[in-house]
Amino acid sequence: MDKELAFTLHLAIYQEEDLGDYITFMMNFRNVLNRLKPSEVIELETICCTNIIDLMMELLPCHDHHDVPWFECFSFFEPADLDSEFMEQEAAKGKGAFIQALWTQFAIPKLCFLVYKAWRRYGAQNLTTWTRLAQAVLDGCFGKKWSDCVIQVPDTCSISLSPMHWPEKTQCGHSFHLRCFLRHLDMIGHTCPLCRTPNPLLPS
Ligand SMILES: [Zn+2]
Ligand SMILES: [Zn+2]
Repeated sequence: MDKELAFTLHLAIYQEEDLGDYITFMMNFRNVLNRLKPSEVIELETICCTNIIDLMMELLPCHDHHDVPWFECFSFFEPADLDSEFMEQEAAKGKGAFIQALWTQFAIPKLCFLVYKAWRRYGAQNLTTWTRLAQAVLDGCFGKKWSDCVIQVPDTCSISLSPMHWPEKTQCGHSFHLRCFLRHLDMIGHTCPLCRTPNPLLPS
């Protein structure tokens, strides 16, 4: 979901008595999120994750345990798995555009939802603590062990022609999305689609 849509949606569905304060908070939080930059020095992934969990316990003790490490799984997805043309376009640019897009398309909308949930459950929220959480999440997005091609221009899978962040390399030196390659093996046969080497995934 686009971040602007997420803000609009989470303003529209709030119906508590303190709507005015909530709107002010959301507008301020939105300004914060739009200006936020990754820290110059990003802490180790485990520290980032602990920070996020501690802050979540403070802000929203009732959160679902998927609510935070939720961001983690995206670092293992191929752009095509996210089912979004925008994410694939961004992935093709390299230079970290994919990570930035994860932040705007997934992390910001998720934070909006969590703020909404916290206001409904616990009332007025503290912008400073939410800003710290957002910073930890943003740093977490950038602090993952991304493959080099997320930062450089990624390779394209010769089967699906979409950008490839986690290529599966064959014995013959070609690489494909693992999923595309397995589908090829299943449907076409056990040869490399580019050079026809037999059983290309087996060690020679
Ligand atoms: Zn592919
Ligand atoms: Zn080959």
